[in-house]
Amino acid sequence: MPKANETVLEINLAALKENYLYLKSKISSNTKFLAVVKAYAYGNNTDELATYLENLGVDYFAVAYTSEGISLRNAGIKKPILVLHPQIVSFNLLIEYNLEPNLYSRKILNEFIEQVELVKKKDYPIHLKFNTGLNRLGFSLNDTSYIAKTLKKTKAIKVKSIFSHLAASEDLNEQSFTQAQISSFKTITNDLINLIGYQPILHLCNTSGILNYPEAHFNMVRSGIGLYGYGNSVRENQNLKPIGTLKTIISQIHTLRKGESVGYNRGYISNSALKTATLPIGHADGIGRQYGNEKGYVIINNQKAPIIGNVCMDMIMVNVTEINCNEGDEVIIFGPNNTAENFAKTANTISYEILTSLSQRIKRVYLY
Ligand SMILES: *Cc1c(COP(=O)(O)O)cnc(C)c1O
Repeated sequence: MPKANETVLEINLAALKENYLYLKSKISSNTKFLAVVKAYAYGNNTDELATYLENLGVDYFAVAYTSEGISLRNAGIKKPILVLHPQIVSFNLLIEYNLEPNLYSRKILNEFIEQVELVKKKDYPIHLKFNTGLNRLGFSLNDTSYIAKTLKKTKAIKVKSIFSHLAASEDLNEQSFTQAQISSFKTITNDLINLIGYQPILHLCNTSGILNYPEAHFNMVRSGIGLYGYGNSVRENQNLKPIGTLKTIISQIHTLRKGESVGYNRGYISNSALKTATLPIGHADGIGRQYGNEKGYVIINNQKAPIIGNVCMDMIMVNVTEINCNEGDEVIIFGPNNTAENFAKTANTISYEILTSLSQRIKRVYLY
C-alpha cells in the first residue's frame, strides 16, 4: 500500500470482492443479492463501488433518496435501483431515471400512482414495505386488502417486491423478537400474494440477517455494512475484511512543558513534559468532537496516540510523547488492523456512523 502524503480514505476493491463472495456463499444460488449503496456507499463513494459491484454480478442496488439513484444512473449503472425513502416531490425525476420506489403508506402509494398515470406508463415497478416491528417506515398488516383494492383499480404500477426490515438482526438476545418479525412477514406476504394473484420478490434480511437467519433469506437479501467489511459480531468480523483505511500524516510536532495546554479552550493541560503531533483531519472531516479528550486514538508507527484536547474543525492533536515519529510520518485512523468499529466504540458509536460521516473533502483512493 502506498504511504499517505495527505488525508486519504484508501478503498481496497479486492477486499470488497472477497466480502461479496463470502456473503454470496451464505445464500442459495437462486437468492438474489441487493447491494445497499446509500450514503455514498457508506462513505466509500457510490459510483466507483456500484460500478465494481455491478461487474461482480449483484442483482439489485438500493439507495435512500432519488438523488442518489440519479447519480448511479449518471455513472452508467444499468441494474434496477430501489429507492428506500423516496420523497413525493421528486417522483417525476425518479420515473425519468427509471428508479424503483419503496411505497410504504397509503398516501405515498396513491401519490405515486397518480404521478405514473400522469406520464401514462404501465406496470411501473414498485416495492411495498411493511412494518413488522421496527416502527420506522412501512404499511401495517391490516393494509393488505386496501393495497390489493388500490392495485386492482390501476394498470400504472406492478409490485416488483414486498419487503420489511429487521430491527435487531445482529442482537442474539432478540432472537424471539426477530422470529416474530419473520413470521409476521410470512403472514403478510401470503395474504397479499393471495389478494393480488402474483408472486413478487420477497426480501427481509440485511447483513446480520443474512448471517444469523439463513431461514429468512426469501428471494433476495440486502447487504450494506457486510460488503464494506463489518459483520456486527466478533465471529463474523473475522470472515469479512474492512475495505477502507483512513490515513493521514503528521503536519507538525510540538514539545510542551508541564502546565502548558493544547487546543481550543485549553482542553488538555499537560502534567509533565509532552510531545504532540498535529494532524490534518477534524470534525469537518467526520471525526466528531466526541473523539476528543482522550476518547479516540490513532496509530502512528504501530503505537496508539490518543487524541488530546478538543477536536478542531480541520485538525486534531495527538499525544506522541512515547512515540518515535517525525513530521510527514503516516498516521492510521482506522483500517483492517484497527477497525472503524473499534474506533467508533471509543466514542460510543458504531461503524455505520463513522463510515458515513467521512466528509466528501477526504480524497478517496482505490486499490484494485
Ligand atoms: C440500510 C439498509 C440496509 C442495509 O443494512 P446493513 O446492516 O448495512 O446490511 C438494508 N435494508 C434497509 C431497508 C436499509 O435501510
